[in-house]
Amino acid sequence: MALFIDVYRVSAAATNDALELLHKSHDHDAGIWSPHESLLIRRLVELFTQRGLDRLARVKKQILAWEAGNHHQQSAFPVVRPGMMERWNEAELTLVKLYLESLPPAQWALDDHMMAVDYVVQRYLPADELRTEAEWLSTRSGMMGKVQANIAAELITAANADKILGALPSLVSTATSQFHLPALMRNTLEFARVRCAENVRAITESVRHRLRSTIVQHLEDQQAQVAGTPGQSLETKLFDQFATLNRDWRRIAVTEAGEAQTQGYVASLVPGTKVKRVEQYVGACAFCKKIDGVIATVVSPDHPNKDPETMIWPGKNNVGRSASPRKRVGDVLVPRLPEEMWYLPAGLAHPHCRGRWVPVIDDEPGDDPEFGDLLRGLLS
Ligand SMILES: [Zn+2]
Repeated sequence: MALFIDVYRVSAAATNDALELLHKSHDHDAGIWSPHESLLIRRLVELFTQRGLDRLARVKKQILAWEAGNHHQQSAFPVVRPGMMERWNEAELTLVKLYLESLPPAQWALDDHMMAVDYVVQRYLPADELRTEAEWLSTRSGMMGKVQANIAAELITAANADKILGALPSLVSTATSQFHLPALMRNTLEFARVRCAENVRAITESVRHRLRSTIVQHLEDQQAQVAGTPGQSLETKLFDQFATLNRDWRRIAVTEAGEAQTQGYVASLVPGTKVKRVEQYVGACAFCKKIDGVIATVVSPDHPNKDPETMIWPGKNNVGRSASPRKRVGDVLVPRLPEEMWYLPAGLAHPHCRGRWVPVIDDEPGDDPEFGDLLRGLLS
């Protein structure tokens, strides 16, 4: 099918964004809920997903209760509006709650509705707990990469993955000291930790933004509504918003666990080890299908003659690179340079990619025989 899109009138930057979107538009969202292909992180992805979805469900339930006036409690004391800051400490949160509870629903101003959103988001999506949750996912997934490098492929079963999961630490600092991790592995876990926390933080912001704008719109709709005609309920309006947020959360689970595991695996292999890319799942994009089966040699990040076509190294990824072979400069489309394009990554090719690496020769030793012994002891 030929597709003609007239982008002449828009800016070069907007054209490039459009091209990028077209080339990424596969986005495999169809298979986003299916179990992860990697047995080592399958359980992690499901646990992280479930806990996040539970949190989001609580946020939705709470905001609907506030908006329905269900939390109202008559108070003998005059209600004093707390300051309009958007982040409160524990004592301030209690004051905000008291204020909102005692304010009769009929007296809620627009700012009070917004305050209820900020309260619910802070109470049910607490920043420190979510950072801990993000580190739990990224550290254990990264360590699963080290597990993969140090045990035989035949030992990687769902039951064994569960046994190992329980023995892995949740913090980068604990993993580093407990297993005497080399700097490269520690850095890999640190990058994974910060990236995952950043994505989780962005979802919290998105929850807040979506709730605030949906509620403002809902209140405006109610005011503008023709008398006697039924309007859409707030719950209906929030349904789509939460469906999107649930998918966003799932995408973090799949992407961050996959990225941490693949990078952790590559960082735990002896330089010179050969690995094979596997991209076999429903909805794999054209780029990922193309790299399925490719054999790459692991090299150290400071290898002097890195060949991006045949070698991978820890940290090699496609962030800031483009999926589109062309870009707009002025009024013309020009080919992108090879160094601007997606290449064979050590981790995932793009968000929600489910690519992974498997050993070419199964009994090749990993980087840490002691860790391998420990794992085999755990499984025997
Ligand atoms: Zn892909």
